[in-house]
Amino acid sequence: MSTTASVIIIGAGISGISAAKVLVENGVEDVLILEATDRIGGRIQKQNFGDVPVELGAGWIAGVGGKESNPVWELASRSNLRTCFSDYTNARFNIYDRSGEIFPTGIAADSYKKAVDSAISKLKSLEAHECAGQLAEEVPSPPKTPIELAIDFILHDFEMAEVEPISTYVDFGEREFLVADERGYECLLYKMAEEFLFTSHGNILDNRLKLNQVVREVQQSRNGVVVKTEDGSVYEANYVIVSASIGVLQSNLLSFQPPLPRWKTEAIQKCDVMVYTKIFLKFPHCFWPCGPGQEFFIYAHELRGYFTFWQHMENAYPGSNILVVTLTNEQSKRVEAQSDQETLKEAMSVLRDMFGSTIPYATDILVPRWWNNRFQRGSYSNYPMISDNKLLQNIKAPVGRIFFTGERTSEKFSGYVHGGYLAGMETSKSLLEEMKQSLLLQPLLAFTE
Ligand code: FAD
Repeated sequence: MSTTASVIIIGAGISGISAAKVLVENGVEDVLILEATDRIGGRIQKQNFGDVPVELGAGWIAGVGGKESNPVWELASRSNLRTCFSDYTNARFNIYDRSGEIFPTGIAADSYKKAVDSAISKLKSLEAHECAGQLAEEVPSPPKTPIELAIDFILHDFEMAEVEPISTYVDFGEREFLVADERGYECLLYKMAEEFLFTSHGNILDNRLKLNQVVREVQQSRNGVVVKTEDGSVYEANYVIVSASIGVLQSNLLSFQPPLPRWKTEAIQKCDVMVYTKIFLKFPHCFWPCGPGQEFFIYAHELRGYFTFWQHMENAYPGSNILVVTLTNEQSKRVEAQSDQETLKEAMSVLRDMFGSTIPYATDILVPRWWNNRFQRGSYSNYPMISDNKLLQNIKAPVGRIFFTGERTSEKFSGYVHGGYLAGMETSKSLLEEMKQSLLLQPLLAFTE
């Protein structure tokens, strides 16, 4: 027997939950959210580690203090979320070489300026090539020395805002706040959920949310959509919203019948996925500097991205004695494939380079595996150097009764929590328009207006 609903939403991350909320608030009450895991939140996930809650996925509310208000910052204020102001820009003045020396401020600042100028001219050259079919001008030589490689890594894998205008910072402001709340970043999703789903003592008890439902097949016909899950359950609806990540869509977890058209699959395959891994290390005591401007520090190594970007958690949780090192892409995939003990050994050797051989050995390590997680296959979509509007429109466009949402479909804010949040709302608004047009649902919507 199958369960029926007006709209099935695949995935209960921030976009799935915001999409469902808009539908319910507009009178489409019989939604069904199918989530593969045993929790809501998706890439917003808290885990206890070394006696404090750490954020395995999104950790910052990016884009605060500008001319417009970031809607996630508003949600955070409504939930009294505890946050700490973060300033990455100091990181460039705390760059250690392999002998534990900090590069003088002047050298670091010059290298940083050179890297920004080089990235800007590379971008301009690419744009000229793209727009006018001109030959690309000669681009500056690639970074070679450890400090150049370290700066290239922080610039491209973290900051980029100094190179091109990023809508998040232009619209919402340049400040970033680290979530440091016992309830985790995910409490924002519970707050939203309790506004339209039945909850009791913080637990969602509404049977419109079904956890542990791994969707494997979406079949559409002229009359509706049938969704099949790994455990053999069958659900029917008039429409489906797919909020699974672009990495999942690129994998073979979900199949569509009839297959998605070529313009759609090509757009999905073309989309870049960033792997971003925060590795947490717990120590018996602090041995790193914790003064003002020292929250972030950099390790310069001849291999780009090798345990480069470090953060201590004393600002968020004083006395926690936790360090976080961020790896990306190839380095993330490499550590995901090895044992945590091997990663710990590597991290300790890097820390001994920076702080000497007498530092204590970490007592615990936590290595999230976003790349190998079959419900994620990566951390977030990567904004392209040159925005490709056609690609974005194709990623986002519905195919018949199947609508697509999630951070990647956000035109201005892809990759971010607020991108997912706004995308979910926007997708549901488009679907409501479509439903209004459809004779089938006319009476229901007329009733709610
Ligand atoms: P998701 O959260 O991925 O939701 C999709 C849901 O679909 C998941 O719950 C998944 O389990 C489910 N699903 C997948 N396949 C199926 C299936 N077949 N059947 C049923 N369910 C399925 N953003 C920021 O703004 N600030 C940050 O500091 C930041 N840092 C980040 C750090 C990391 C390590 C990561 C991973 C992400 C970070 N992000 C950050 C990005 C941010 O977390 C995401 O953009 C946002 O949470 C995406 O929400 P979403 O709803 O689009 O997708």
